[in-house]
Amino acid sequence: MKVNIYAVQTGTVDIKTAHRIRKPGGLIRVFTDSRWTEWLPIYTWVIDHLEGIIVVDTGETSKSSDPAYYPYWHPYYRYSLRMNVRPEDEIGPQLRGMGITHEDIKTLVLTHFHTDHAGGLYHFPGTEILASGSDHRLASGFGGRLRGYLPNRWPEWFSPELIAFEHERFGPFEQSYKVTKAGDVLIVPTPGHTPGHVSVLVNTEDIIFFLAGDTSYSESLLIERTPDGVSPRVSVALDTMNRILRLAHSRPLVYLPTHDPESVDRLTEKRTLGGSLMRPTVGGGAYA
Ligand SMILES: [Zn+2]
Repeated sequence: MKVNIYAVQTGTVDIKTAHRIRKPGGLIRVFTDSRWTEWLPIYTWVIDHLEGIIVVDTGETSKSSDPAYYPYWHPYYRYSLRMNVRPEDEIGPQLRGMGITHEDIKTLVLTHFHTDHAGGLYHFPGTEILASGSDHRLASGFGGRLRGYLPNRWPEWFSPELIAFEHERFGPFEQSYKVTKAGDVLIVPTPGHTPGHVSVLVNTEDIIFFLAGDTSYSESLLIERTPDGVSPRVSVALDTMNRILRLAHSRPLVYLPTHDPESVDRLTEKRTLGGSLMRPTVGGGAYA
């Protein structure tokens, strides 16, 4: 079955270097670090499937350029995050520009609830939205706001369908959830960056396209198994990275994290992770 995948970039984000690569002190260093990364893309993904369009993540809203959009009292928003999103960068206008209407969209999947993945939710009224139940709980209410989520910016109607994973193994992932009846678009649990983080797989005949959200900020950080600075439990993040690497060992896999500037080239060129894994720097056989 022919499936096309398109990257839609909804502006750029700038984070601290201690956010992208974990430093001693973990989350504290994200606040105290004075060094910023380069501006990173915020990608969302459009899967053009016979059963309907599936969108992965919403990207950020241009309202984020107004300082009042973020809670002034939260140190993360105050000191550790910059966003650059123009109105025309938002996912709504971009989907319209691609000729995609509400009726065409079958499902929206959220990899997690961080603002640069969920800030465009208001473009999807009436769409079926799939998201992790445990992350939805964590992100909701005032507790969610303390944790750095923006539930106060979610649309009134927002009530996602919580993903009910089935004990159906997909490679190293013990559970999965079929988004399409054909079973070729799947969600797998990829906890780490957030406890309920999920990734979306498009399983074509020859290649698995792994829409990774924030399982790592780049392909090389996955290969090096370098955790980020915000994952609550490093061991969980590393376990997920190992599973992705094991899957990439068994099948050609194109790895597409949200903030990797090279993701789009890898998608268009179908550049698989396998080639990179063969490099001796990785240390063979350590992916168990
Ligand atoms: Zn995130």
